[in-house]
Amino acid sequence: MAEPRVPGGRESELELPCGERVDTHDLHLGMREFECACGETHAVVLDPHPLARFVPEFLTEVLQSTIETSDDYEEFTTVHLMGVVMEEFPDTVVAADTSEDGNVGFSLAWVSDFDSRRLHEIVVELVVELMEHAVSHAEDDDVMAEFEEQMLQFDVAGFVEQYRRERDFDGRNDTAI
Ligand SMILES: [Zn+2]
Repeated sequence: MAEPRVPGGRESELELPCGERVDTHDLHLGMREFECACGETHAVVLDPHPLARFVPEFLTEVLQSTIETSDDYEEFTTVHLMGVVMEEFPDTVVAADTSEDGNVGFSLAWVSDFDSRRLHEIVVELVVELMEHAVSHAEDDDVMAEFEEQMLQFDVAGFVEQYRRERDFDGRNDTAI
């Protein structure tokens, strides 16, 4: 039997890059960012968030078909994506493992020093890099040609702007957050 968790105890507190703390019990699946006591807005990502929060279907399909995962997950997920983000930004993204915490609906939480829009741009840039690398090793000329054609028309900032507008358009009923 696990020890009962002390309400408001320190176990669920996550220290942020800015020095403030956030209680993971205050995070929830509908949250993308929050205003911090430090005055900045920090992005929040939780492991149930689909890749579609950041990238459209054609990109998630390329990611899942070209990137082999070496862990328990069967395909590339938000968990892998945030792992890449943390590698690139070790000082500005922190993660909490909440898998033992039955009080929250997620197993992993990430908070970045930058806001949700900046995180989105960073994620898309990293995804493009990842795919360029993966596709170049795929030895599938059709995949490569299709990818290059799609990337030729791809503008990260413009994409993020448009994607966020479209996703926000449906408001609360939009499942991809
Ligand atoms: Zn802060």
